[in-house]
Amino acid sequence: MTILTKAEAEPAREVPPPFLSVRDLYVQFATEDGVVKAVDGLSFDLERGKTLGIVGESGSGKSVTNMAVLGLHNPRNTTVRGSITLDGQELTGASEHTLEKLRGKKMAMIFQDSLTALSPYYTIGRQIAEPYMKHMGASRKAARARAVEMLDKVGIPQARTRVDDYPHQFSGGMRQRAMIAMSLVCDPALIIADEPTTALDVTVQAQILDLLKELQRETGTAIILITHDLGVIASTADDVVVMYAGRAVERGTVREILKEPQHPYAWGLLGSIPRLSASVDVPLSPIPGSPPSLLDPPSGCPFHPRCAFTEQVGGDRCSQERPEIPEGERRGAACHLPADQKQSIFIEQIQPRLR
Ligand code: SF4
Repeated sequence: MTILTKAEAEPAREVPPPFLSVRDLYVQFATEDGVVKAVDGLSFDLERGKTLGIVGESGSGKSVTNMAVLGLHNPRNTTVRGSITLDGQELTGASEHTLEKLRGKKMAMIFQDSLTALSPYYTIGRQIAEPYMKHMGASRKAARARAVEMLDKVGIPQARTRVDDYPHQFSGGMRQRAMIAMSLVCDPALIIADEPTTALDVTVQAQILDLLKELQRETGTAIILITHDLGVIASTADDVVVMYAGRAVERGTVREILKEPQHPYAWGLLGSIPRLSASVDVPLSPIPGSPPSLLDPPSGCPFHPRCAFTEQVGGDRCSQERPEIPEGERRGAACHLPADQKQSIFIEQIQPRLR
């Protein structure tokens, strides 16, 4: 008689694919000056109920990536290659009709600037009700009731009367709440929040981030949070992708990225944040140089013209050979420095500056 171990006796369970999976994504714009390589081979996953923070300087490809997820690029001058699957459905190459149905219903966007995103000509209530009627087939009356319910949910006082206000009658924080209500009205499974609190003062910022977290706890929505603000990442994200020149240069949990970053660019980002505990005599250490042109990105590691550690790697490896985050690794950095050297540089040179 053959005795099977428990693992052998049980049929292998299939691991379900991630809720959102982005694989080898390339986004390129044709311009008069040449082809802009805005996203250059990006991969990441996101599970339901989790928040992925995407962080990087302006022009690192954060927003372009998320426009690609939403299918908002103009196909006439933009090439999108790679795979984006949402709940098993492939989005790259999907018809505009399919994407239109998914946007608003299954995935929604919260923009940075509520004044631009909300039309000044329609009441707040109408702007929340419209997508509900369109995607859920609700009657005008049911959609209005839903708009009131959503405004109430996002903390707008006297929602029953404020539903008939126009955007200019709301404060900046209230408009941002209204935009969140508009994004969530159809219970989307994925929300992309692009710098959702940048235009707000610090107290309102904290309220909006708390609101997003609370709504996520209630509904299990997956959130992609795009920001250049590591404070926002610290208080909101579960996992983080650090982007530079259209590529992921580091990924890990929020704790790993903020407490034990491995990539020289992430060291630079963390070193350039003002710290309350630091003496006023200690200057900030901004990253030298400026982000590269995506028309003609640097060869090898795109960070090499700004990196202080190329000599430790030796030769011209940094300028010639493109480093990758090892395929399939949950945690990693795209850098040629050996792991032990990264760790000692971090402990001896970087960590003391972050205290
Ligand atoms: Fe710096 Fe070289 Fe690492 Fe790029 S690969 S981050 S240039 S040390």
